[in-house]
Order: sequence, then C-alpha cells, then structure tokens
Amino acid sequence: MTTDATLFKRKFFPDVSTKDWNDWRWQMANRITSAADLDRIFTLTAEEKAALTAPDAFPAAITPYYASVAFSSPEVRRTVLPVPAERTELAGETSDPLGEEPCMVAPGLVHRYPDRVLFLTTEYCSTYCRYCTRSRLVGRNSVPSRPSEKRKACWLKAFDYIRKHPEVRDVLVSGGDPLTMEDGDIDFILSSLRAIPHVEMIRIGTKTPVVLPMRFTPALLKMIRKHHPVFFSVHMTHPAEITPEAAKACVKIADAGIPAGSQTVLLKNVNDDAGTLKELMHRLLKVRVRPYYLFQCDPISGSMHFRVPVKKGLEIVDKLRGYTSGYAVPTYAVDIPGGGGKIVLATDRVVGRDGDFLLLRNFEGKLCRYPDYEA
Ligand code: SF4
Repeated sequence: MTTDATLFKRKFFPDVSTKDWNDWRWQMANRITSAADLDRIFTLTAEEKAALTAPDAFPAAITPYYASVAFSSPEVRRTVLPVPAERTELAGETSDPLGEEPCMVAPGLVHRYPDRVLFLTTEYCSTYCRYCTRSRLVGRNSVPSRPSEKRKACWLKAFDYIRKHPEVRDVLVSGGDPLTMEDGDIDFILSSLRAIPHVEMIRIGTKTPVVLPMRFTPALLKMIRKHHPVFFSVHMTHPAEITPEAAKACVKIADAGIPAGSQTVLLKNVNDDAGTLKELMHRLLKVRVRPYYLFQCDPISGSMHFRVPVKKGLEIVDKLRGYTSGYAVPTYAVDIPGGGGKIVLATDRVVGRDGDFLLLRNFEGKLCRYPDYEA
C-alpha cells in the first residue's frame, strides 16, 4: 500500500531501505533533531528557527515516520516544532504544574492517590511534544533509550516502595515513553511489578502507536501478554495521526488483548473544534481504541499559545454529547495544578425542580421534566 509515509520516505529518505524504515530502532536512531535537518523537511519559518536555536530550549525530536505525519498536517506540525512563545512564562505557569516532585516517594515514583502510583521509568521519548507536562524531565539530556545502571537502581527503589505499600493496586508506567525501551527492560519492569501480589492492574502511558507504530512487533506484544491485565493509555492528538500504519498498530494492540484508552490534550489551533475531535474519536473507535480523557492543557511554562479557555472546551464537548455515540465522547477534565487531582468538567444539565420533577436540559437545549421523588 502506498501511504503518505511511503511517499514522504521516497522524497526525503530515498536511500533508506524499506526494511530499515520499518525498523523501530532505525527510526529511533535517526530522529530528526537539528535545525538544519528540520529545515530540510519542513522549510522552517524564521520564528521556528529562532525558537529551535534559543539557549535552554526544550529540545525538538521527531521520528522520521512522525515527520511524515507532521509534513502533511499543519496542526500536527504545530505540536512538534517550537515557536518563540514557548519562552514566555505567564503567571500560574510552572515547570511542574501537577506538583509531582513533592509527591515523589522514590526516584521517579509519584504516590498521590490512595491506591495507585505513577512510575516514571524513563526520560526519553521518540518524539517530543511542545506542550509536554514533563518537559522539566524528558529530553533534557541526550539520554539513550537504554536505561543506565543508575536508572535501573531507581527502579529497584520504586519496586521496593510498592512492595511495602499493600494499598497500591494500580501502577501507571509512564515517563517519557516506556515503549521506547528494549523489550527486555520493559519485561523486567512488568515482571517485577507482577511479582508484587497486591499490584492488580498495570497501565502503560505511551504515544508510540502514533509516533513509532513499527514498535509493535510480535515479540513485544507476546511479552506484554504474559503480564495481563495490562492496559494502554495512548496519547492521541489529531485525526491525521491515525494513518494506516498507526491504525494497524492499534489493531495489533487490541488483538493482543490490551485494552487501550485515548488521552487527548485540548490544544488551540490543533484540535479545538468539535469537527476535528469528533473525527479523531470516530477514527479511534474504528481501530478499537476507546476515547477516554480530553484534558485541558496543563499550565506548563510557555504553553499559553496552546491553551483553550474552559468555556470553549465545554462548548466543544456539548457539540459531541448527544450528537454521536456515547463511546465517542471522552471525559473532559482538568488536572488541578499543585496536585489537586483531576476534576471532570461538564455543563450542568440540572436546571431546577418542579415538585416531584427535576428540570433537566437535554443535548438540544430542550427543557425536560424527569420524575424524581425525594424521600
Ligand atoms: S509523548 Fe508524552 S512524555 Fe513524551 S514528550 Fe509527548 S507529552 Fe511528553
């Protein structure tokens, strides 16, 4: 099949064999990171060039595969190429908006909620998103995808903490992107967690299906199956990401018995309209990924140009609910800065009461009476 990625490869990587192109390790080793290489493909604007070369800038990195997506989609391009606005920090913005650092109970292990922990296993991603909540951690060093001995020692401390805390029944393995690591390293993490009897559920947070779809080899999926129940929280942004390659990866994930839910960040001039989000959610359902969360963009330093007012977010979700399958409507939520947790955002449908009837407004704005007898 000739896909956009195939055409892109012919144009910009003509000497690379198809075998290499479809090899996730080749994609990782050939991430596009320099201003010169990005310019060769994207013809950078003066603003993008200035942002890329600014001192201390959050690094840029894109797999050649995902560059093919960003090349054909101006919206996806915005999510991976920097602009000078990233240098402007507004009041309320911070490098650790979710307040994870104060809740670290072991290196890389955040324990905030009673029965679950967030386990930051790596600081590496194959592609860096400009609005990354963990940009204080990820991509800051030119760390290899193989974890160092120091990093592995941190994992052992995290396992030890979880072992000693029987209340932890759910572990979210995240980073960075854990699926950028070798199968053996991922297997070590999952086996160590599975050896702890009270860990019931393991989730892996990843963007790999859309930025590195060739990562889903039979060997990786066979290894993950050993550790079920394992769930994926897949970071998806725009319908253009659901290419034939990404769709194939998602179907393989589902066939391996891994339930996958999507997490989407609402981003200005990227996906902040009902049509775009509806198309994304429909495409996700077709490849058996359940739309799960739609998040407000966290107030990470320099993210103002991505943030959408909550009022607009509510209007967008109201244009989905009732107008498409309930399965296609993600839960809209904000993660409260400083560790306040997630709060679900929804338009209040309860208008008032008339005796034994509750007055509700339906998706079309029509006032409805619902029998509701108060004791
Ligand atoms: S994939 Fe996630 S962790 Fe990696 S850069 Fe994007 S938002 Fe950050």
